[in-house]
Amino acid sequence: MLRLPNVRHEAPSTIEEAVVLLGAEGTLLAAGGTDLVPNLKRRQYPGAHTVVSLRKIADLNGINVDEDGTIRIGALTTLATVAEDSRVPLVVREAARLVASPQIRNQGTLGGNLCIDTRCDWLNVPDTWRQAAEPCLKTGGEMCWVAPAKKVCWAVSSSDLAPVMVALHAEVRLAGPSGGRTIPVAELYRLDGLAHLTKSADEIVTEVAIPDSAGLRATYRKLRRRGSVDFPILGVAAAIRLDEVGSCTAAGIALGSVASAPIRARAAEETLVGRRLDEDSIAAAAEAAGKLARPLNNTDLTSRYRKRMIPVFVRRALGDLTGH
Ligand SMILES: Cc1cc2nc3c(=O)[nH]c(=O)nc-3n(C[C@H](O)[C@H](O)[C@H](O)COP(=O)(O)OP(=O)(O)OC[C@H]3O[C@@H](n4cnc5c(N)ncnc54)[C@H](O)[C@@H]3O)c2cc1C
Repeated sequence: MLRLPNVRHEAPSTIEEAVVLLGAEGTLLAAGGTDLVPNLKRRQYPGAHTVVSLRKIADLNGINVDEDGTIRIGALTTLATVAEDSRVPLVVREAARLVASPQIRNQGTLGGNLCIDTRCDWLNVPDTWRQAAEPCLKTGGEMCWVAPAKKVCWAVSSSDLAPVMVALHAEVRLAGPSGGRTIPVAELYRLDGLAHLTKSADEIVTEVAIPDSAGLRATYRKLRRRGSVDFPILGVAAAIRLDEVGSCTAAGIALGSVASAPIRARAAEETLVGRRLDEDSIAAAAEAAGKLARPLNNTDLTSRYRKRMIPVFVRRALGDLTGH
């Protein structure tokens, strides 16, 4: 059995208090803990001495709808609640339902889902296994065991909701020591498996705002070995608007789990806007998206297969939305 390391537990009741506590080095933030706790048990955060839980901060929980149709979901809202609330866009509910298992969705939160740590076959194993080799970049070593030629960590962004929120052009609200700020979800991430979030350690995601999705057609397709529990090894989110003659007026396409951050497939989006969505335009968008990522062999199934599945999944996702 893997045991938790000795850590101090803090449970502040305000966001301000939590921000101050998170400012101290070696302090980690926990929401549902379904990602953080297993990572702690595998000793993935060696210098950590304190965990700050958000669970007592009531302000972070709940779903509201603005007059303009924007859906505001508190970061601490569980995935089970998100999946069941009919005010939440269907594509978000469906993607939430694809995460892990019912137990984990009852405990895991939306904010935690967007911020889960990047994953890698070399990293997400007990430390006794890791001790069989030199540490990798993410565990304080000098090289990446997946791609030793470059000093870059390729651990994979493995959130189901992240590509969906990018495709929907959602925003996150952050609270930090210098106040609050709002950024597009796409800007929460960077392509670096070591530090895949652009926010600082003492910034908390407080809310996710999804723009009015009336008239939007959107879908999410997830590749994984088993039908449940497994993390995504490819996720494709697509959202489009069509005018009355079937021409695409807006498109959002994002790829998940093929790099250290979700990738917005702008080239594929541009292929669609202004065109009728038929087999040719869908094939062109799928081809454009397929060129945007080069998955490596650091998660389930082979990198070659995952790469080949990107255009296939984009084509299927757009087919879901248009009947092609
Ligand atoms: C067996 C198993 C299967 C899983 N399958 C999937 C899957 O299929 N798809 C998937 O997407 N995930 C999966 N997960 C990961 C995880 O359970 C979910 O992503 C869950 O939503 C994480 O939410 P949480 O509240 O438990 O996060 P936590 O574990 O509390 O936190 C995760 C990370 O986010 C940070 N964080 C949490 N909340 C905030 C916040 N408000 N602001 C800033 N940082 C924050 C934490 O510091 C931590 O680094 C799986 C986990 C397990 C154990």
